[in-house]
Amino acid sequence: MSELRRPNETGVPDSKQFMHPALVRNYGKWAWHDRPQAGVLRHVSESGEAVYTVKAGTQRQMDVFTIRTLCDIADKFCEGHLRFTTRSSVEFMTTDETQVKPLIETLEKAGFPVGGTGNSVGFISHTQGWLHCDIPGTDASGVVKALMDELVDEFKNEDMPNRVKITTSCCQINCGGQGDIAINVQHTKPPVINHALVSGVCERPAVIARCPVAAIRPALVDGKPSLEVDEKKCVCCGACYPPCPPMQINDPVNSKIAIWVGGKHSSTRSKPMFHKLVAAGLPNNAPRWPEVAEVVKKILATYKADARPWERMGEWIERIGWPRFFEMTDLPFTKYHVDTWRGGRANLNASAHLHF
Ligand code: SF4
Ligand code: SF4
Repeated sequence: MSELRRPNETGVPDSKQFMHPALVRNYGKWAWHDRPQAGVLRHVSESGEAVYTVKAGTQRQMDVFTIRTLCDIADKFCEGHLRFTTRSSVEFMTTDETQVKPLIETLEKAGFPVGGTGNSVGFISHTQGWLHCDIPGTDASGVVKALMDELVDEFKNEDMPNRVKITTSCCQINCGGQGDIAINVQHTKPPVINHALVSGVCERPAVIARCPVAAIRPALVDGKPSLEVDEKKCVCCGACYPPCPPMQINDPVNSKIAIWVGGKHSSTRSKPMFHKLVAAGLPNNAPRWPEVAEVVKKILATYKADARPWERMGEWIERIGWPRFFEMTDLPFTKYHVDTWRGGRANLNASAHLHF
């Protein structure tokens, strides 16, 4: 193994210490790659050595038993090495071509569908949700599991015009990214304030500073320091809830789901694009979110039938135009699709290229 870079206080550890030995041997020396079949990548290095990577879907948030199962598969076929992608797919590498078929069979038998490569619907990414964040309006990982169950054939086959990246986010502030299809929680009512708790729990200046449209003001309620919300200004973003839990915005009826389409991060073929709202007010209907699945499947089927080869979702819509998109998908176009907030240009990001 080559020498590890020196540790520093920030950033991830040197990845070479965890890599499959064949990847370390050929690091930076790859000559070409292809996909012998859906779910399998073949990388060939300048030395002629080939590495086969088998990609499989998981249930997204994993328990220790699942991780042990995946590790046992890696021990059996891949010299104990596996890796997770940013979308929580799992990838197994082997240099032995004869191991690819039994590896695929073992994964499928254990319930991990093989796919997600090329022009498929890749694994759906989701934001942190209830496990790691304090403001989620839904269980984003649950939406992912329910939708992937519906879209598993599109994951296993490479039948789309181009790759399709779907994202889910459990609030509209949205630590997720741009997606060909994005499924985001949408609060539709301003927060309800529990005034009895505010003075004991909240740092009021922090909450007031957090509001993107300056809708929160200090107030005295029943002689105690509290807050009030100018509901005409409030855009129901949910940003005030983390620093001030008594400003409850999650609501079983009024927290809805919205679907946005046409975003992408890459600069391939065309510049990065923002996704745009196409369906709002869908019920946040756990545990299977059938109304959301219906809209997503309709959009996917229309894109699959009408887009030209290699057009991403946003490129397809730019070619046919938004009126035609709404006609073809049977989605109603309403006044809520028009952003009339005059402060938008000055306050919101105007580029899909974000650098952290
Ligand atoms: S999308 Fe919003 S609620 Fe979900 S993890 Fe990100 S910041 Fe938290
Ligand atoms: S929900 Fe958002 S816009 Fe409304 S008061 Fe809270 S921080 Fe401000």
